[in-house]
Amino acid sequence: MALYRTEAVVLRTHNLGEADKILTLFTRNRGKVRAVARGSRRPRNHLMGVSQLFTHSGMLIFKGKNLDSISQGSIINAWLFLREDLLKMAYASYIVELVDKLTEEYDPNERVYSLLVSVFDQMQKDDLEAILTRFFELHFLRLIGLKPQLERCVGCDTVLTSAGNQLRFSPREGGVLCPNCQGGRSDALSLSQGAYQVMRWLSAANIDRLTVLQMPKPVEQEVEEMLRNFINFHLQRPLKSLEFLYTIRGTS
Ligand SMILES: [Zn+2]
Repeated sequence: MALYRTEAVVLRTHNLGEADKILTLFTRNRGKVRAVARGSRRPRNHLMGVSQLFTHSGMLIFKGKNLDSISQGSIINAWLFLREDLLKMAYASYIVELVDKLTEEYDPNERVYSLLVSVFDQMQKDDLEAILTRFFELHFLRLIGLKPQLERCVGCDTVLTSAGNQLRFSPREGGVLCPNCQGGRSDALSLSQGAYQVMRWLSAANIDRLTVLQMPKPVEQEVEEMLRNFINFHLQRPLKSLEFLYTIRGTS
């Protein structure tokens, strides 16, 4: 039987039988993988810790015919703050569900793995979970080939400068429309200069620079709405974690 060693983050868990769990993992070198953690719901089982949602571990996994099986695991970061801070947990739940829904099994993407780990690391350090989530969305979409086009008009390919343009954002066409290309495209959303600037800035920013971003609340909400519409366009059905996030946050 083939064994492989990898690092992984737990995206989803569900119970199997009396004592097992099936984990959906995002692994460093094999992308999304489903694997069973046998006995992991028994107290003091050696896989109990590594089988918790969000946990980042090193794992030794058997490659099974139908389902892989975790043989050993050691925790790299349990990110306990995600269990103690409900708001951060809600944002993290959204992030892992997004990765789960928009990636295929055994489609390796080490940069997605690194992004996921770095966003949780950063979330532990400061209280920028909303901005970090927007940062995650923009960079994740780029890494899976769904980047919203912000630098050029999706209608005519004109390079877009920031000043003075009345821009619109079209989830269906995949990005921003210049004033000349907006006719007959009633589904495109009106996009303020502030929100446009923030989306461009976040797309190019380093994760450790997010604290310098000053963003009024309405702009923050607008950026969230643009990306929500864009992501929904690519999903089969709405994410379950959003309801939880809106409940905890008190706003949708
Ligand atoms: Zn145009």
